[in-house]
Amino acid sequence: MMVFGLLKERRRRRLQARPYPKEWLDAIRRNVRFFSRLSTSDQAELLGHIQVFLAEKRFEGCGDLELTDDIRVTIAAQACLLLLHRKTDYFPRLLTILIYPSQYVAEEKRQIHEHVWEEGKTVRLGETGRQLGAVVFAWDAVKSGATDSADGKNVVIHEFAHQLDFENYATDGAPSLATREQQLSWREVMKAEFASLRIAGETGIPTLLDTYGATDPAEFFAVATEAFFMRPCALRARHPKLYAELRNYFQQDPVAYSAERIRQS
Ligand SMILES: [Zn+2]
Repeated sequence: MMVFGLLKERRRRRLQARPYPKEWLDAIRRNVRFFSRLSTSDQAELLGHIQVFLAEKRFEGCGDLELTDDIRVTIAAQACLLLLHRKTDYFPRLLTILIYPSQYVAEEKRQIHEHVWEEGKTVRLGETGRQLGAVVFAWDAVKSGATDSADGKNVVIHEFAHQLDFENYATDGAPSLATREQQLSWREVMKAEFASLRIAGETGIPTLLDTYGATDPAEFFAVATEAFFMRPCALRARHPKLYAELRNYFQQDPVAYSAERIRQS
């Protein structure tokens, strides 16, 4: 176990240090808007994580999608934003990323989660499940999230937040938190924020957070993480305690590189 861990660490460090193909960097600059707003050191860290991510995860094109490096790096860049500044095991429960060209129809009885459906057939933009070992995306939704779409939606960040939640083997909306103190504070804040989103959802009060997050605590964490990275200024202003918990966990302050801030100033 220890030896395996050390070998894995060493292999990952080598991958991180590998020269970065120019085509990948071009694709990221072209498709992923937040990249240019990150600090130089964060950009370098992100590129290192992407190298590991691309080496360790399997990608599959589905429904006539021709898989390209463009697609792979655009997904990897967004997923790896969640890993900056923290010790990470690179989404250990995830093996495979399946990508459809656009919204796809799933025919399953069981609801893994995400998006309402009726009688087995449903149109989905993305999904993940702890047992699945896979995430499924629609490429058009991935692209839209990467371009700072005004709706603040980012399906990659949403699904990979679920993957972080799975890291400690529970789907409970609480990722691995470093200290007992952090766990207690997290639980208290999330409980209150989840309850108020539920009430808002039931009464129709407009909310910053997508009321889909009121489904359960796991969806709440995924929706809150999306807002944290995509609409950090608004989240900090309207949900300061929630913002602070997420900032402590992610060890990042997305207000510093937010498109919102640039638009406002
Ligand atoms: Zn979800």
